[in-house]
Amino acid sequence: MKKTKSEVNALVDALKRAYPDGICSLQYPKPYELLFSVRLSAQCTDERVNKVTPALFARYSTLEALAEADVTEVESYIHSTGFFHAKARDIVASAQILVSQYAGRVPDTMEELLKLPGVGRKTANLILGDVYHMPGVVVADTHCIRISGRLGLTDGTKDPVKVETQLRKVLPPEESNDFCHRLVLHGRAVCMARRTDCGNCTLRPWCDHFTTITAK
Ligand code: SF4
Repeated sequence: MKKTKSEVNALVDALKRAYPDGICSLQYPKPYELLFSVRLSAQCTDERVNKVTPALFARYSTLEALAEADVTEVESYIHSTGFFHAKARDIVASAQILVSQYAGRVPDTMEELLKLPGVGRKTANLILGDVYHMPGVVVADTHCIRISGRLGLTDGTKDPVKVETQLRKVLPPEESNDFCHRLVLHGRAVCMARRTDCGNCTLRPWCDHFTTITAK
């Protein structure tokens, strides 16, 4: 059901009250560390990534060191995150591009970010939102896609690009990035993939899924 602007704002505020810290659960002191941590998080939990990155970034403490790293040695640090051949290859190749083409800086445009090996829209949006604080950023991960659909903020599509477009139309631009981070927290704690704890959900008043199940 289409929501009014004030309903969307109320929903956004309720989620903010429930999760005041709308931050990424990956740990990253440097922007390029976020870039590589997100690459490592593909098909892996943030918790697992946070366990391997301290040793990885201690061994290669600069971008230049990563650019010159032996891929096989990088693999040994990230083995437990899965798909480690491709991830190690992408990390070293991206580090080389950042050093040679961007003077060690992570680019701040979607177009440039998407040219980096292993970087898709989700990663690029995360960099634009968390590192460069650009308004209107939407990180359409699995939690965001699922819960936005249940709430009725999207038409229920599972296509990340469509979710991104639809959410960008309804969310306040300055809130969209943190809103997505909060949906991840909500998706882990309350609105899970296989089970919804609607009775304890602060978003009930604006949730289409809840309205549907209670009308039966
Ligand atoms: S009311 Fe239920 S379905 Fe809706 S967001 Fe909350 S937990 Fe998810």
